[in-house]
Amino acid sequence: MKYSKSKIKSCFLNLDRKSFMDIHQESAYFDRAVPIGHGQTISQPSLVLSMTLYLDLEPDSKVLEIGTGSGFQTALLAELSRAVYTIERINALYIRAEERLTALGYSNIHFLHGDGHSGWQEHAPFDRIMVTAAGGEVPQALINHLAPGGRMIIPVGDTFHQELKLITKSRNGEVAHSFIEHVMFVEFKSGTE
Ligand code: SAH
Repeated sequence: MKYSKSKIKSCFLNLDRKSFMDIHQESAYFDRAVPIGHGQTISQPSLVLSMTLYLDLEPDSKVLEIGTGSGFQTALLAELSRAVYTIERINALYIRAEERLTALGYSNIHFLHGDGHSGWQEHAPFDRIMVTAAGGEVPQALINHLAPGGRMIIPVGDTFHQELKLITKSRNGEVAHSFIEHVMFVEFKSGTE
């Protein structure tokens, strides 16, 4: 069973973006990315919604998210799937997001402080993968971790030009890439801090 667009929208509208922000709360309801500290941003809400729609989640989907950040996108994924495995490279953001999402009552989210370039081998494969930071290429580990029939949404490019891509893996393992739109994300960096 797939979710209707209106169900996904209502889950999105039920999330209070302000409660995912510790600073710049006055900007919580503007449709733009807002700083969350450590040089990172909470993504633009309209993009969170459109990327979630493109992911085409199912209630029993097992999802890998790279770039936990504030945890706002994580919460939406968790509302609409069986389990979310989320990776964040900045320790302070990882700790804060886990604290926040646990306090909000989510029990189907698994957190990792690490570099998402290598995916999360222990729990692979994933039915859906969402990356919320932009790098020069799609890491091979993430393609390997995508289950047959799976979908991945990932921004690819540099600071000035990024393309949001949908990557699908067919039932027999064929991988196809398609262009969705131009976007602006923070850098998909290597290593942890
Ligand atoms: N979707 C989140 C965060 C967007 S910002 C939100 O809306 O709040 C992107 C996040 O990706 C940042 O928190 C950044 O630290 C993280 N990130 C960047 N490179 C990463 C990597 N290699 N592995 C894991 N997280 C990474």
